Amino acid sequence: MSPESAPTGDDRLVPQPATIPPPTPSSHSAPYWEAAARHELVYQRCDACKRAEFDPAVVCRRCGARALTWARSAGLGTVYSWTVVWRPQQPSFVVPYAPAIIDLDEGYQMLAAVIGCRVADLAVGLRVAVEFHPVADGFALPYFRPA
Ligand SMILES: [Zn+2]
Repeated sequence: MSPESAPTGDDRLVPQPATIPPPTPSSHSAPYWEAAARHELVYQRCDACKRAEFDPAVVCRRCGARALTWARSAGLGTVYSWTVVWRPQQPSFVVPYAPAIIDLDEGYQMLAAVIGCRVADLAVGLRVAVEFHPVADGFALPYFRPA
């Protein structure tokens, strides 16, 4: 086991080290990752039916319109559900980590890890705020911390 993947010895949820593999943006997710690198959380909203859209899409998943406009999220939401990973799928990841589905106030959901608390503090409805931490190649990943 490499030093990066050594367990922390407790259940504190912390950001992953910058040595984890960086994201690989597609042409339609590139604006999302460019905003994340500036520590801004963005999502798309359909010009036709006004649905908030996430993950980055080419067409609206509700009405099929191609007119999706990027908008900045306040990055505030609540935990909808989560799981705790104790055994990393990739050796550079530090455990435990808690991937969670977050209900953003703008009306969309996204998957990101919760940090800044202990495993036992995780709860449905926990109020959280986004923050960003760097990984390789100039990218930054969103995490959510109890607000
Ligand atoms: Zn739509």
